Amino acid sequence: MITRFAPSPTGPLHLGHAYSALVAHDMAMAVGGTFVLRIEDIDQSRVRPAWEAQIYDDLRWLGLTWPAPVMRQSDRLPAYAKALDILWSRGLLYPCTCTRKDVLTAANAPQEGAPIGPDGVIYPRTCRSRPLGGPLPAQDTIRIDLERVADLNLDLSYPETGHRPGVHHTTVAQMQTDVGDFVISRKGMFTSYHLSVVIDDAAQHITHVVRGADIQDATQVHVLLQKLLGLPTPTYHHHRLIRDDHGKRLAKRDDARAIATYRAEGATPNDIRRLVGLPVP
Ligand code: GLU
Repeated sequence: MITRFAPSPTGPLHLGHAYSALVAHDMAMAVGGTFVLRIEDIDQSRVRPAWEAQIYDDLRWLGLTWPAPVMRQSDRLPAYAKALDILWSRGLLYPCTCTRKDVLTAANAPQEGAPIGPDGVIYPRTCRSRPLGGPLPAQDTIRIDLERVADLNLDLSYPETGHRPGVHHTTVAQMQTDVGDFVISRKGMFTSYHLSVVIDDAAQHITHVVRGADIQDATQVHVLLQKLLGLPTPTYHHHRLIRDDHGKRLAKRDDARAIATYRAEGATPNDIRRLVGLPVP
């Protein structure tokens, strides 16, 4: 078993992150497996080296260990570019010049409340009508063409052992309604969360993806990309979310629940385990 924790260094780790990292770590350790760390730093406008340093420090303090070197997504752009080229040459992608406002207007969102998927408003495929050809315009926003993907008759299923356990199924036709032509590469970013996570989970041989139930809607997107790129589909384990006293999911700005704050107040790693409802070894 290989599990992972994949934080973005855009703020302090809080109790929710501690829970996720500890569950992934404990799951692997229980069967003599490996826990790996990956730094998801593709959004260079939001990441800070100080947050990355704090992640290592907090996780070590919690008692976690992981193999070196740590994978950082900012080093992985060539792998993402290669995957984009493959999908582009198969005619499964198209560039999109729509702004957020264009999408909302085309989807009639201001009046009606347009259908929303895990990536926001379902894209009305405005840019799909433009002629395609030539090399991949790598600088632009690139979307997946689900209408073309639907022709491939892919089996989109994945095993889930956490929240709503069992085998989850969907179809590309269903995704056309529920998700729409999602962005696979963001303008000027040369990748997206979805593409990077799928390529890197495969590169790190992750067998069990442990993460919060709030990301479960994105898993169908990840399974679709795995099938298109010939990558294995791991088992998914979406866990419960750690909430604040008002029942709200913790966010990066919840500094009060930052691990660093608890540390400064004299908490021990076992206190953190107790706070998130995990057994203390
Ligand atoms: N980098 C993501 C986050 O910090 C994690 C995504 C994942 O586990 O797939 O929320």
